[in-house]
Amino acid sequence: MPDTDFTRRSLLAAGALAPLALGATRALGQQAHGTPLAGEFALPDPPGQKMRWAIVGLGNFAVGEAIPGFIDSQHARMTAFVSGSPAKQKDLGARFGVSRFYDYMNFDSIANDPEIDCVYIILPVGLHAEYTIRALKAGKHVLTEKPMASTSAECEAMIAAARAAKRQLGVAYRIHFEPTNVRAKQLIDSGEIGDIRFVSADHGFNADPNYPPHKWRLEKALAGGGSMFDIGIYGLNTSLMMLGQDPVALSANYIYPKDDPRFREVEGGIEYRLRMANGVSVAGSSSYSWSPYISQQRYMGSKGSIFMKPATTYDRNTITVEGNGPNHEVGAANPLTQFQRQLDAFSLAARANTPHKTPGEMGLRDIRLIEAMYKSADNGGEVVKL
Ligand code: NDP
Repeated sequence: MPDTDFTRRSLLAAGALAPLALGATRALGQQAHGTPLAGEFALPDPPGQKMRWAIVGLGNFAVGEAIPGFIDSQHARMTAFVSGSPAKQKDLGARFGVSRFYDYMNFDSIANDPEIDCVYIILPVGLHAEYTIRALKAGKHVLTEKPMASTSAECEAMIAAARAAKRQLGVAYRIHFEPTNVRAKQLIDSGEIGDIRFVSADHGFNADPNYPPHKWRLEKALAGGGSMFDIGIYGLNTSLMMLGQDPVALSANYIYPKDDPRFREVEGGIEYRLRMANGVSVAGSSSYSWSPYISQQRYMGSKGSIFMKPATTYDRNTITVEGNGPNHEVGAANPLTQFQRQLDAFSLAARANTPHKTPGEMGLRDIRLIEAMYKSADNGGEVVKL
């Protein structure tokens, strides 16, 4: 099957990126650290040689962000959709030139489909482990959305399945590929703000229990955890990427009114402190009861600081460098390319069968840290040694 010759411009002209009528619109160790990609990728693959992807779950994020990421991809193209909705498959299939459709019952038969190399899991968190392991057993490489899974035990099972299948497993931490954050990491590593002494990272939004993509986020079986699993993980994962080290201890407390009926099953908010071996602290927070949407991080160093607000959005992140002179903003390339860059990086890793920049081990590390936060918060904010 030849590569689909779509470009973002041609799809825009054809209205393919217009909001969908279906309501699916935008609305351990070294491996665990990962490193952001700074450079450009190699030339495009010859026609017909891009890695072929199946998308599992055609929900809000898949349709609004992940699928458009394929339009400009140099190394990835979509060949299949896995969904419980034939209507969505038909609609999106027509828009994006995809004609191989599977559902959750016949999903395992992708093992017999030579037109699928990689599988992208974009399901509610509670389903990540099951579909990741099924895809690995089918012989496919898997990129799964963040957070990796509901528990560290599930993450361990996913990593074991990838090893058994001799396939790659990545977690879709898009920020490692987002140009503004990559630029911030370069500034920090170049010594622009001196030695980092302290980090703050706050992320949250107001969860609406009547909005389907938020509804499952409030159910433990489908969400795994609460705000820290879903949105707080950005502050956790990004600050560890910027610092290039893992904490040796942490403490946490819940920060939501316990009588809010939305938070019967999962935590509505948490504040935490990570302590690094070199004395640096990260003070972070996350919430499902903040308005407006908050995404901000500050890296305070001996010579200046870097403030990012917003820090981890899809398309408008900014860096303000604060030093002895006037504050100045640092621009970066179009953050939208984070989706395309992530797909290209995973495709190249899968082709070479070498670890992705944000591998399963990184996802496991983060779930273990969040589990330690819950343990601390359940015990009155006790310090948990890691
Ligand atoms: P949605 O609810 O919009 O989409 C989830 C999709 O999963 C559904 O549309 C459905 O697709 C499928 N699905 C299968 N079983 C179920 C079930 N029991 N309940 C609900 N949906 C089911 O969620 P999001 O798109 O917001 O999130 C999906 C994943 O993407 C999550 O892992 C989330 O953490 C991640 N995400 C990542 C972001 C990022 O920036 N990296 C941003 C937002 C989300 P179908 O109808 O096709 O079967």
